[in-house]
Amino acid sequence: MPVGTRGAVKHLTAADLDRLGVDVMLANTYHLMLRPGPSRVAAQGGLEGFTGWAGHHLTDSGGYQVFSLTPSVDDDGVTFRSTYDGDEIRLTPERAVGIQEQLGGDIQMALDVCPPLPSPPGVVATAVERTAAWARRAIAVHRSPRQGLFGIVQGGVDVGLRRQSSRRTAELPFDGFGIGGFSVGEEAAPRADALAATLDELPADRPRYLMGVGDPVGLITAIELGVDMFDCVLPTRHARHGTVLTGEGRLNLRNAGNLGDDRPLDDHCPCEVCQRHSRAFLAHLLRVKEPTGARLVTIHNVAWTLALVDRARRAIETGRFEEVRRSVIEIWT
Ligand SMILES: [Zn+2]
Repeated sequence: MPVGTRGAVKHLTAADLDRLGVDVMLANTYHLMLRPGPSRVAAQGGLEGFTGWAGHHLTDSGGYQVFSLTPSVDDDGVTFRSTYDGDEIRLTPERAVGIQEQLGGDIQMALDVCPPLPSPPGVVATAVERTAAWARRAIAVHRSPRQGLFGIVQGGVDVGLRRQSSRRTAELPFDGFGIGGFSVGEEAAPRADALAATLDELPADRPRYLMGVGDPVGLITAIELGVDMFDCVLPTRHARHGTVLTGEGRLNLRNAGNLGDDRPLDDHCPCEVCQRHSRAFLAHLLRVKEPTGARLVTIHNVAWTLALVDRARRAIETGRFEEVRRSVIEIWT
């Protein structure tokens, strides 16, 4: 899922999302609840009417952003200051569901407690405890049958806490499961162990969504473990900095050597940018800060990432996943 932080994926239009074949876009509840506010979005027919994009929207609970603002947390909810105007804002599991109901996405996320890593074991344990209590409260007030509701597993890189959090989330009637608290600066090896333990305890018949992971190695490793969904700003953020994802690894378009290179970004990429434009042209646009440059590289990076996940899906179906996994790991590590 590409990330449309404030309702749009940076540099892309709704028509782009259609052409790219995007199924689901993630929109950030935190940003939309502050600007323009959920009632404004609701008055325009929810995210679909407001953004003009008829695909599926997933709204996060706001928790991830809020917890990056060093909020004050208690058993009932979380209080933080708006990054827009410094106003004090209160978010509870009930309010997060209510706001997401107004935003009108297809998938809501229950509000969780996402502690920074590393955190003392007691802090991670309390986060698991509160996340479980908040999950029940979210379910109790969720009333929109058109909108799915996902619970979120926490537990840091503690295998025992991850198992406990997974079990407690899985026993509730959620439509799917978010796996939170990763991609917050942890090492790869403990992440893999904690992620494997998490997936072990989650039912295989409902979607499992690893939040905030979208680098090629992270994707392929998690797909191997049984993750179904991802969101990440990495493909679009990289694009704005001239970093291109290709079948041969990372390409830095800002290197002067690209200015005379008539090849496409990726010889095997079917995207509209690779069909039409050379590295020379795109490197030039970035160099002179022509906004179209970032836009075109964004289109390619999103197309490339979707194609990678597609390739993994097809490889699973044809029993050739291990081959794909090995080639991705070889190129990207
Ligand atoms: Zn391309």
